[in-house]
Amino acid sequence: MFKYYLLLIFLLIQLIVIKGIKYTIYCMSLLNWVALTNKMNCPFCSNTTLKVTDKRTSPEGIRRRRECLKCKKRFTTSERVVENSFYIIKKDKRREKFERDKLKNGIEKAFEKRPVSKEKIDKMINDIEEQLRRRGKKEIKSSVLGELIMKKIKKLDNVAYIRFASVYRDFQDVRDFKRELRRL
Ligand SMILES: [Zn+2]
Repeated sequence: MFKYYLLLIFLLIQLIVIKGIKYTIYCMSLLNWVALTNKMNCPFCSNTTLKVTDKRTSPEGIRRRRECLKCKKRFTTSERVVENSFYIIKKDKRREKFERDKLKNGIEKAFEKRPVSKEKIDKMINDIEEQLRRRGKKEIKSSVLGELIMKKIKKLDNVAYIRFASVYRDFQDVRDFKRELRRL
């Protein structure tokens, strides 16, 4: 019995240590983030205490008029979110930049004349794109993309699913269709 207590205490200590480390890392990353987001140097004297005197939104992004509290010089900065693009790696290893329009065309073709609203299809396309972006990878295999699309289409419409699968899986004859139909 004593052995078990010892083991339990040991496990508890381990848990506290691990949690503690995780929490510390979390706090550190938070601190880092705060420091990184606020840190900017004056281009004239490298001082880091700056004052924002004006903020405007322009086609190039958010523009801020800043004043250095040390040398009193003024300058403008602009901020823009850089679109994080990624590539689709084809079966033959070719790299192709992901394009939403291409994805949309393929999916819409599968849903042609099907009783599914445009809103539902658009939402599905958004979901797919978002899921791919959330992976945060620079390269995604076309097979991964294909399976994801098929999974989503299957939930909406079986006919569209078979249509898409026949192109994607390159069905050769009626047996391929039968096999896929049996899996529905
Ligand atoms: Zn300065």
